[in-house]
Amino acid sequence: DVISGVRVRFAPSPTGYLHIGGARTALFNWLFARHNNGVFLLRIEDTDQQRSTKEATQAILESMKWLGLDWDEGPYFQSQRLPIYKRYAEQLVAQGNAYYDTDAEGRTAIRFKMQDNVIILNDLVHGAITFDAAVIEDFVILKADGFPSYNFACVVDDADMKITHVIRGDDHISNTPKQIALYNAMEVRLPEYAHIPMILGEDGSRLSKRHGATSVTEYRDKGYLPQALVNFLALLGWSPGNDQEILSMREMIEKFSLKRVNKTSAQFDNTKLNWMSGQY
Ligand code: GLU
Repeated sequence: DVISGVRVRFAPSPTGYLHIGGARTALFNWLFARHNNGVFLLRIEDTDQQRSTKEATQAILESMKWLGLDWDEGPYFQSQRLPIYKRYAEQLVAQGNAYYDTDAEGRTAIRFKMQDNVIILNDLVHGAITFDAAVIEDFVILKADGFPSYNFACVVDDADMKITHVIRGDDHISNTPKQIALYNAMEVRLPEYAHIPMILGEDGSRLSKRHGATSVTEYRDKGYLPQALVNFLALLGWSPGNDQEILSMREMIEKFSLKRVNKTSAQFDNTKLNWMSGQY
């Protein structure tokens, strides 16, 4: 069941440590690439100049290395690709899909024109999701300072880097119709999408600080072994198809498939992580 030509990416925003949710997204992308003999690339989405830091980028790279998630290409930095976004944005204006618009300070930005149509996302995890594009407003793709917005940079890069499968948290489902509209306007073939369900704390709310350690760095500093954490993360929303709980990296790669990613949210269970750690 190997898919040929797979190219996937992990695209963190460097605004803090690599948290558990991000690490699991990176892991699923990595396992999918390795299972299919594909390419796993790393892209640092540092277009938010206020919130992005070099320290966060460093911490993310270190956490990935510690977990053993090696990348084949990159890291690419979006902040170093501004001329590419400008070129694509101007192309969309020339085609009539985007227009110049003044922002609140009277400076010129470029805004994408949404059509009034129906957009269907065929998600590999969630199935078909239909959006009414008429209720989505025209949105800025290039800000007056020359920086792209997230949705635009993401699509330009995924197209330019020939990404075949976008695997990311399902908090991005609401962005996807905008991204699909951009692909269509750019006349680029859509990637496959797999939106993986959120990780919740044991009380059922979104995993956050009050549930305990949430970053890879914290687990490393507490003395957890990377293999144990990877094993635990792999089973957060994915199952090998039987009740095996202790898997080597090799077994995870062999068995990984998007078909066995759960539709429902995963629960972060510290007791289980600690039990698992005891097995290593
Ligand atoms: N930078 C985005 C994030 O960290 C990436 C989302 C995506 O994978 O498209 O959430």
